[in-house]
Amino acid sequence: MGKKELKFNSKAIHGGQQPDAAYGAVMPPIYQTSTYAQSTPGGHKGYEYSRGANPTRTALENALASLENGHFGMAFGSGMAAIDAVMKLLSPGDEVICTSDLYGGSYRLFKKVYEKYGIKFRFSEMVDMQELVSQINENTRLVWVETPTNPMMNIIDIEAVAKITKSHKLLLGVDNTFATPYLQRPLDLGADIIMHSATKYLAGHSDVVVGALVVKQQELADQLYFIQKSSGGICGPMDSYLTLRGIKTLHVRMQRHCENGESIAKYLENHSKIDKVYWPGFEHHLNHEVAKKQMTGFGGMISFVPKGGSYESAIKIVENLQIFTLAESLGGVESLVGHPASMSHGSIPKEEREKNGVVDALIRLSVGIEDVEDLIADLEQALN
Ligand SMILES: *Cc1c(COP(=O)(O)O)cnc(C)c1O
Repeated sequence: MGKKELKFNSKAIHGGQQPDAAYGAVMPPIYQTSTYAQSTPGGHKGYEYSRGANPTRTALENALASLENGHFGMAFGSGMAAIDAVMKLLSPGDEVICTSDLYGGSYRLFKKVYEKYGIKFRFSEMVDMQELVSQINENTRLVWVETPTNPMMNIIDIEAVAKITKSHKLLLGVDNTFATPYLQRPLDLGADIIMHSATKYLAGHSDVVVGALVVKQQELADQLYFIQKSSGGICGPMDSYLTLRGIKTLHVRMQRHCENGESIAKYLENHSKIDKVYWPGFEHHLNHEVAKKQMTGFGGMISFVPKGGSYESAIKIVENLQIFTLAESLGGVESLVGHPASMSHGSIPKEEREKNGVVDALIRLSVGIEDVEDLIADLEQALN
C-alpha cells in the first residue's frame, strides 16, 4: 500500500518518510553540515549547500507536505520567516486582503515592513463574503486568512473564501497554526498556500521556533523554493529533527488537547463567575456551523472574560494560576495562560483592540494535555 493512501494518524508517523539511505536509520540523522563533498564540479548526491537543502530539513518538509495533502513543503527559521517568504511573491503596487483579527506579528510585518515596499494591506472580517468581494480590485493578488483567529476564536469559511479567490484569480493563503492539519486541511478546501508557526502544535513541546509552508502547485513551489534559498530564512537541522519528532505524536496530542479543551470550555461556561467563553465548539458560537463543517474538532484554545472583570483582576487570576504557566505562545504539551491586553495585544491601542473584543479582562488559555481534573482545580482556585 502506497504511503499516499495512508490515513492521517499513520501519515503523522510515516508520511513522506523513508529510512535514511546511509545506514537505514529510522529517524533521519541530524545532518549538522553546511556543505557536501562533490566528486567533480556538480557531481553531488542532491545536496550542495545547506541553505538550499539539507537532508534533515527535507525529511521534515516531506512530512509537512504529506500531512497537509500538499505536494511541496518548506521549513523556515520561524513562522514569521515563512510569511515573509509569501510576501516576497508580491511586487510594489500589489494589494493583500487579510483577516482583521490577525496575529500581532503578522500585522506588524505587513504594516511596518511591507507597506514601506509599496504593498497595500486591507482588512476584512470575512464573515460577509459580499464585503470581501467589494475590497477586491485590479491590484489585489493575495487573500490571507487566519482561522480560528487569535484570541477571539472567530471562524472563517475557507471554502467560501476560496470560491472568491478562484473566480478572481487570486492566491489564497491560510495560517493553519491554531487548527493544525489534524483538525483542518485548507488545501483540500481550495487554499493555495498553507502556513504554520510549527513552533506551536506541530513541534508541540515549546522547544523550537520553526515555520512552514505547504503548497500543491509546482510553479508556486518553484517560486517559494527560490525565495527560501535566496533570502535564507531556513530551519536548521537540529530544529528540523525536533519538529519532525514532535509531528509523530501530533494526532495523539491533538486528540487530548481537544478533549481537555472541551471539558474546560464547558466548566467555564457553567461557572457563576464567568461572563463570556469563546470556543468554536459551542452551539451558540457565532460561526459554529462553519467550524463543524471545516474542522474535525474544536481544539484547545479558549478565551474567556470573568464577570465584572477588569485589567487588574485579570492579571490577578493569571498570576494565581499554578499549573497554567503565564507565558506567550501556545500549542505545547503544557498548559499556558496569557493576558492579551497586556501581552500579545499590548501594542494595539485600547479602542482598536476592544473593537475586536479584546477587552481588558480577557484571558486566553492554551489547554495542554495534563489530567483535566488538575487543570480545572487550578482554574477553580485562581477564580476564587
Ligand atoms: C506564533 C504565530 C505566528 C508566528 O510564528 P513564529 O514561529 O513565532 O514566528 C504566526 N501566526 C500565528 C497564528 C501564530 O500563533
